[in-house]
Amino acid sequence: MPVCLECGDRIRYGRTDKKFCCDDCRTRHYNAAARSGRAFRRRVFRILVRNHEVLEGLIKAGVESIDMIDLAAMGFSPTFVTSYSKVGKHNEYGCFDIKYIMTRTRVYSIMKIQNFD
Ligand SMILES: [Zn+2]
Repeated sequence: MPVCLECGDRIRYGRTDKKFCCDDCRTRHYNAAARSGRAFRRRVFRILVRNHEVLEGLIKAGVESIDMIDLAAMGFSPTFVTSYSKVGKHNEYGCFDIKYIMTRTRVYSIMKIQNFD
């Protein structure tokens, strides 16, 4: 006998592919799923905002090239990016309106994007 995904009760009536014992459980389940999706997006967004603060600070300080180790120490998370493109042999990444080239050990050519094309 199938079991309700929300409360774990056995589902006694209806089609054999039913996932919930009642409408309340269905609603609760999908609301929870939507909540956790939003929480996940908020976490990712906070990481990207932090990355942007670090990069913007570097631009303001006139730093165009920096070791990954130093970046990590500043709270930069290299695996979170908003864009990626291959430019020649280089891997160019974006963080909102800032672009940079990243290798395994360094980030360089950090600059503001003036317009999107
Ligand atoms: Zn239930």
